[in-house]
Parts: sequence; structure tokens; C-alpha cells
Amino acid sequence: MVSRKVLDQLKIEIKEIENELIVYRKILGASPNPILITNNQMQIIYVNEAWVHLTGYKSDEVLGKNPRFLQSGKTPAAVYKKMWQHLQNGKPFSTREIIEKSKEGKEYQIHSAFFPVKNDGETIFYVQTMHDITAQKRIELLKTEFLSIAAHEIKTPLTTLKLIAQVLLRRFGHDEKNANAFMLLDREIARLANLVNELLDISRIETGRFHLNKERVDLVPLTREITKKMSLLAKSHEIVFYSNEKSILVFADVNRIEEVLINLLTNAVKYSAENTSVRITLSVRGSDVCISVSDSGIGIPKEQFTHVFERFYQIHEHRTSGFGLGLFIAKQIVKKHKGKIWVESTEGEGSTFYVSLPLLDQNNKRLYSKSIRQAVPVLQI
Ligand code: ADP
Repeated sequence: MVSRKVLDQLKIEIKEIENELIVYRKILGASPNPILITNNQMQIIYVNEAWVHLTGYKSDEVLGKNPRFLQSGKTPAAVYKKMWQHLQNGKPFSTREIIEKSKEGKEYQIHSAFFPVKNDGETIFYVQTMHDITAQKRIELLKTEFLSIAAHEIKTPLTTLKLIAQVLLRRFGHDEKNANAFMLLDREIARLANLVNELLDISRIETGRFHLNKERVDLVPLTREITKKMSLLAKSHEIVFYSNEKSILVFADVNRIEEVLINLLTNAVKYSAENTSVRITLSVRGSDVCISVSDSGIGIPKEQFTHVFERFYQIHEHRTSGFGLGLFIAKQIVKKHKGKIWVESTEGEGSTFYVSLPLLDQNNKRLYSKSIRQAVPVLQI
């Protein structure tokens, strides 16, 4: 027999749990962010007011259903796959790529965070919290389209200007003053041209039109050639190439990898003193190749290590500085190759940027080494 005292205690505890539940329900209900909860069979057991407002469905229309009826068909399958991998491993997952369809058939894009709720090691619920980013995405797209149109429009007159600057330099460059002015003009045009190319890359990245032409590439001759080219352009520095390997094969877009390496080398030159050396090395680490570009320049503070890869992020002012886009683009290129890019640095001593890329099967002897473009991307229009 359970004693009256125990029963009373139990009643108090149940009341407390009920009250707690009421508070949690109120909090979930009042959240401005849509929230959906399913049981471990993926049947909806709760949606809040914000979710009802977003989707147009009433709560009793959806309870017990699998949320897949919301799918628009526009979310990449890989996103759902990744989400499931995370949830099944008991990990949270967040993405900005989910596009769903409301009851009226209107598409909306959400920034979603998914997480499993566990009890005694067993997943009992899956929770999805959302933030409607449809309007934000539309504005981003308009901005990107505008950027792309503006960049294309600027490209043509810039090409003409560059030609004019070169003709002027050839015709009137024998006078030192003229030569300096025309060289400055040429350099500024190249800087603008570089910005235009970077903006076009950004607009391609953001609209998903950034495609790679992958082929078998031997990084050893490619990097050696890039080093030679950079040595001719940056006479103020000694650029040294080192590799233990005779051949390192990757499956990559040769032009894009060249763009990354030239960007890293250009930065190493830009942010270090004249007459110092810049070192580019290749080494094989397990199933990856690791490319490192080191300088003994001004360095980067530790707290900026991840920020330097963000868009328009610049720490140092530099007379020939770019616009803080180079490393952002480099990171997107490396990511597209399933690789990684990071930096290690000590302020006042120098920096080393690393790029790791997956190696091509080493048994594959069909080596492809494409001749490298003549023009250097940083100076190209
Ligand atoms: P930028 O065109 O301004 O060089 P990047 O995206 O290539 O743009 O680099 C972002 C910022 O990171 C630079 O403005 C600079 O402050 C810093 N940075 C990049 N490379 C180096 C380096 N090798 N040494 C010191 N700082 C660097």
C-alpha cells in the first residue's frame, strides 16, 4: 500500500511537472520563430503559432503527419542526407538551404536548426526551429545580380583603358615622368580589373553558377611554373618552391587552383618586407596533399585567423591592397575541391597559409599536366 504521505508528495510533483510543461508550452508558443517537433517516428507532435503563420496549416491538420509533405523539391537532396547523418549520430544540424511550400503553394526559404532530444540515450523527439529568410534571400539575389551586371558593364571599358594605358606607355614612356604616370595608371586599372573579376566570382558563387572544370592535375610542375611566374612579377622578393615529391596528382580545376596559389603568393609578397623570401611547399600527408605558403611578414593576430577568409575582411591597409575578397574566393574554391584552407601566424614574424586537397588515387598513372595560362589572373582583365 502506498502511504497517503507518498501519494500527496507524488501529486505535488505531478502538479509541478504540469506547471513546468505549461511554462515550456507558453514559451514555445510565444516564440517568434517557427518550431516543429516530431516523435522519433517522424510524426509531428507539436507546431507553434509562428509555424502556423509561416505555413498556413493549422496545427490539427498536421499532427501525426511526416513533415515531408512540406517539401518543395527545391532543397538539394544532399542537405537532407547530411541532416539525417547528423541527427542519427545524435548531433545538431543547421542549414540555410531548405525551401518548403506553404499550404497555398507559396515557396519560402528557412534557416533551420535541427536537434535530437534524448532520454536515457534514446532519441525521443526531433526539434526543428526556423527563421524565415525568404525576403533576405530575394534581396541578396537582387544585389548579386546587380553586382554581376555592373561588373560586366565595367569590364569592357576597362579592357579599352588598359590597352590605352599600354599604348601611351609605349609611345611616350621614354620620358621618366610620363612612364611613372602611365605605369601607375596601368597598375590602378589592373587593380580595378582584379576587383571586377572578384565581384564576378562572388556573384557566381552566390548564385550557384561557380562551376569547376576538373581534370587530373600534377601539382608539382604546376606549382613550379607558378613560382617562376610570380618570381618574374615580384622581383622584390625571393620566391622559393620546395617539394619532396616528383609528382602529386589531384583532380582539380587547374585555373582555379592557380588562382588560389597566386592569391596566397601575392598576399605573402604584399604583407612582407622587400628582400625577404616567400616559400611555397608541397607535401603529401596521408590521403591529402598539403600546400603551404609562408612569409616572414607582418603576420596576423590569432583572433583574426578565421575572419581573414570572410568577405571584404581586411586587417591591414596596403598601398596595392585589394578589397578583402581574395581569401574568401580562395576558400570557396578550396571547399569546392573538398579541401581545407587555414592560416597559422605570429604577429611580426610571419604567416603560413595551408591548403589541403584530396589526392587522386596514387595508382593512377595517367598524369595530366596542362600548360598554364600565359596571363597572371591578378593582372588580368
Ligand atoms: P586583400 O585583397 O585585402 O589582400 P585577402 O582576402 O586576400 O584581401 O586578404 C584579407 C586580409 O588578410 C588582408 O587584407 C590582410 O589584412 C590579411 N592577410 C592576407 N594574407 C596575409 C599575409 N600573408 N600576411 C599578413 N596578412 C595577410
